[in-house]
Amino acid sequence: MKIVIKTMGCKANRYESDRLKEDLSDKAMVVDAGVCDFKDADMIIVNTCTVTHVADRKSRQAITGLKKLYPKAVVVVFGCGSNVNPKTYKNLQNVDHVFTERKEIEKLVDNMADGCEHSTAAPNRTRALVKIQDGCNNFCSYCIVPYARGREKSKPAYEVLEEVQKLVNKGYKEIVITGINIGAYNDNSKNIADLIEQILDRTDVKRLRLSSIEPQNFTNKFFKLFENPRFCPHLHISLQSGCDKILKSMNRRYLSEDYATLVNRLREASPKISITTDVIVGFSGETEGLFTETINFVKKIGFSKIHIFPYSIRKGTAAADFVDQVPDDVKKKRCAFLSEIEKQMRHDFYEKNKGDDAEILVENSKNGFAVGFTKNYIKTRVQGNFKVNEIIHITLDNELKS
Ligand code: SF4
Repeated sequence: MKIVIKTMGCKANRYESDRLKEDLSDKAMVVDAGVCDFKDADMIIVNTCTVTHVADRKSRQAITGLKKLYPKAVVVVFGCGSNVNPKTYKNLQNVDHVFTERKEIEKLVDNMADGCEHSTAAPNRTRALVKIQDGCNNFCSYCIVPYARGREKSKPAYEVLEEVQKLVNKGYKEIVITGINIGAYNDNSKNIADLIEQILDRTDVKRLRLSSIEPQNFTNKFFKLFENPRFCPHLHISLQSGCDKILKSMNRRYLSEDYATLVNRLREASPKISITTDVIVGFSGETEGLFTETINFVKKIGFSKIHIFPYSIRKGTAAADFVDQVPDDVKKKRCAFLSEIEKQMRHDFYEKNKGDDAEILVENSKNGFAVGFTKNYIKTRVQGNFKVNEIIHITLDNELKS
């Protein structure tokens, strides 16, 4: 049986798709859409996203596009998009099943796999995601996630440790801790720093990385974690705006000064740390002057990478009713402006690290060149016949766009 999975949206969705792939791998050959050119897939699974109305539209387009590629496949939909709007997806012409639980998909695959030829897909065991919590209580005014995912719920630490060690035993060298709001992790008063400490102490993981984290919830213990060389000095800390007025109207839980203080402390603890972030451009009420505040703040911090999003109204959120919307052409211009600054900052970060001894985990290797990421998330290319999933030591002298 052959299954194609398409994952829309964030790392939490990526994690759920990866786990689904693992769970189904003894029953079917499962690949990510675009990775393998099946002509005869039996099932298409689309893990939907609803973070913006654009994400909703893209999820629906993905279903239509895949059905054209695999006309005979059964179409299964799950994830945030179909959880929030099940009716919309049930009414789509090409959708056969809308599920809320992974178990429902497994059951369907069990039924369909009876009588199919048995085969499995070999995963590329380099980097695996481990989800430690779900949901969010923050209710940022632009965000639909608390409605789509519900309140914060943490996975017990012992389960996280077991999952990490299981993946390490399977050969994964790097584990990326993910969730919707990982900084809010709480298992019997154990916070995110306690959990990371336990993972480093009690598992054999070679490299441990965090995915996106909010600027609150950093305890004194967190800064000490960088003393362990297996904890990657790379944090993606959501900023969204460098202007306090906009941060307040976004209902974010910090001011720009708090963010700057946090980055300073992190750089004291780990001087070559890579700080990446998200910025929403053109949020309601963002005048030219307020946008300039964000630009000045971003320059002051010096990020190594910024994901730039033009603000788009999400029905069902508080900000959808805000009246002072920014015109699309203005958002576009501001995004382009910030993007130029971002490119320069990314290059500056590389220059700061150039010539350093670095460790990379090889993710691709062909024609005598290997490509991978350093612990502080610089993508680089090295000459030599290295194996995928090999950790190698190099002198950093080749910048690649990541
Ligand atoms: S912290 Fe804010 S933006 Fe992030 S998931 Fe929670 S509500 Fe959404």
